Amino acid sequence: MEKTETQAKTCASWIEKASRIVLLSGAGLSTAAGIPDFRGPEGLYRRAGVDNPEALFDIERFDRDPSLFYRFHREFLRLFERITPTFTHRFFAALEARGAMEAVVTQNIDGLHQAAGSKKVLEIHGGIGSNHCRRCGASFTLDSLRTLMAAEEIPHCRCGGVIKPDVVFFGEAVRELEACQRATVEADLLVVAGSSLVVTPAAFLPSLCQGKIVVVNRGDFSERYLPRRRIDLFAEEDIDAFFHRVDDGLNLVAPLH
Ligand SMILES: [Zn+2]
Repeated sequence: MEKTETQAKTCASWIEKASRIVLLSGAGLSTAAGIPDFRGPEGLYRRAGVDNPEALFDIERFDRDPSLFYRFHREFLRLFERITPTFTHRFFAALEARGAMEAVVTQNIDGLHQAAGSKKVLEIHGGIGSNHCRRCGASFTLDSLRTLMAAEEIPHCRCGGVIKPDVVFFGEAVRELEACQRATVEADLLVVAGSSLVVTPAAFLPSLCQGKIVVVNRGDFSERYLPRRRIDLFAEEDIDAFFHRVDDGLNLVAPLH
């Protein structure tokens, strides 16, 4: 049997036994869905004419002049209309429906886990699904933001304040860190998918886990916060291909029509 096949079978058997599974998902899951790397040569930054990505998500800069951010966000939302969750997103949503998920902890801001049906999602870097007025704190759905963005370049609240997506910017605190830590401590199986475990504090989380740890990542990941000996299974391959194989014996994911 091929190595990846064996690994998928092992992972499936652990998933069957586990009752408090935590998924920690990172950028690899978004790129698998077709969201291009922000920084790549064809990336969104370039398309939006952004030459300094750090400035884009800087909260002080945003409050001074949100036009740069909204040029980017407009491109992002346009692209996002064509994006659907991957098999892996759907796999973990199906696991939650089965009652086996403690939480999905995600570094991604795209809301694809929720779109796939996951409800217990902790967005450590926030997400585009909700938005708030910087002045009065009024909240706006993604749909209402889109409507406002169709009418003006920079969407404003009725009070005159600028609306900002609940994405964590540089200079803002990460979200739900305590809940993320609690879930990870309690997990009997932690699956890390598509994260290179470089960006803290998410990269710290796996070391808190007392249960088994599975890492699925195409390409390598940083061992700075999670030493290789703590990992029970490392599948270095395409995430969707791996979870397709994991699901072969479990049959959790209904085929798309
Ligand atoms: Zn307001």
